This record gives sequence, C-alpha cells and structure tokens, in this order.
Amino acid sequence: MRNDIERVLIDEAVIEKRLDGMAKDIERDFPGGTLVVIILLKGALVFAADLLRRVPRPLIIECLNVASYHGGTESSGKVDFLDRHFPEVKDHHVLLLDDILDTGRTLHAVRQRLIEEGAVAVHTAVLLAKDKPRAEEVEADYVGFEIADEFVVGYGLDYQGKYRNLPFVGVLKLSATS
Ligand code: 5GP
Ligand code: MG
Repeated sequence: MRNDIERVLIDEAVIEKRLDGMAKDIERDFPGGTLVVIILLKGALVFAADLLRRVPRPLIIECLNVASYHGGTESSGKVDFLDRHFPEVKDHHVLLLDDILDTGRTLHAVRQRLIEEGAVAVHTAVLLAKDKPRAEEVEADYVGFEIADEFVVGYGLDYQGKYRNLPFVGVLKLSATS
C-alpha cells in the first residue's frame, strides 16, 4: 500500500497536532450543552474518530452515507442521500464533519438538508480543503489543512475503496491509478 504513494503530503504527527488546535477551537466556539455531530461516511471516519476524542463535552454522534464521487477521481456533480433514516437534528446545534472540501457540493447539500430538518445552526469541519473555486457557495468553519488541487488518499480518504487506513495524507503514484 505504501509503495503506491508518490509522496506524503501531511504526516501523522502534523495531523495530530492540528487536531488538538481544531478541537480547542470547536470547544471554545460552541455554546454549552449537547452537540449533535454528523460524520459523513466513509471518508470522515478516521478524522472524526481522532478529532472527537479531543472534544470534552456531551456529543451525540450520527453518521450519514452520501455519495458524490462514486469511486473515481472526478466529482459526479450529484449528491445522493443513501440512508433510510435521517438523524434527529431538530432544535440542535450541529457540527458536520467531512474529509475534504472539493467542489463544495457535498457540504452544501448536506448542510441544506440539516437546516430543512430543523437544526438550529450547522457548523462544518473538514480535515482538508482544496484551494480552488467551489461549484457551490460553501466554506468550512474549521479547516485542518488547505491543499493544492490534486487527488489525495489516506487518513480516511480512498481511491476505489482503498488507502483509507494510511495514517497520513498522500498523493498516489500514477501507476496505482491505472
Ligand atoms: P465535493 O462535494 O466537495 O466536491 O467533494 C467532497 C467529496 O469528494 C469528499 O467527501 C470526498 O469523498 C471526495 N473527494 C474530493 N476530493 C478528493 C480527493 O482528493 N481524494 C479523495 N480520496 N476523495 C476526494
Ligand atoms: Mg470518497
């Protein structure tokens, strides 16, 4: 698996240090009381697990399955909600977690849905944000790292279902995508 990586972009120690900072910011910004956290599967799983253990407050943790990429390296432009049940968010402050902000379509669509479902406020946190124009007008409230517009894997992010368990964020060799 490691042999398929062209270069490491952000190593584990750097990610962990940044998560300490993000958790502090989240803890500082949210009013007291229970916070509903929505994890977008599967990409945000690793990020969420490491971030949320650093947030010392009552959390209700929910997951959502949405599809926007369908396994390739190009965004399909459409966001599908795959779950039969939507988490209960009415009258709650919600923190929405995703792995990466790319075109912005995913965060935009899910944020919109959470508001329709009655969330008091929706804040968003992403591990990575690509430095590029968004297709939808949305930015994350908490960003781990800004990266260039290239396809990355690891720390939750996949290529055709693989590489999510790499402990760092990296760029694939071209040979691994053919
Ligand atoms: P957006 O809707 O912002 O275009 O894309 C969000 C989703 O696309 C992410 O949750 C992620 O699953 C996928 N995505 C976008 N860029 C990358 C990337 O560089 N690598 C991987 N593995 N997935 C990406
Ligand atoms: Mg994905």
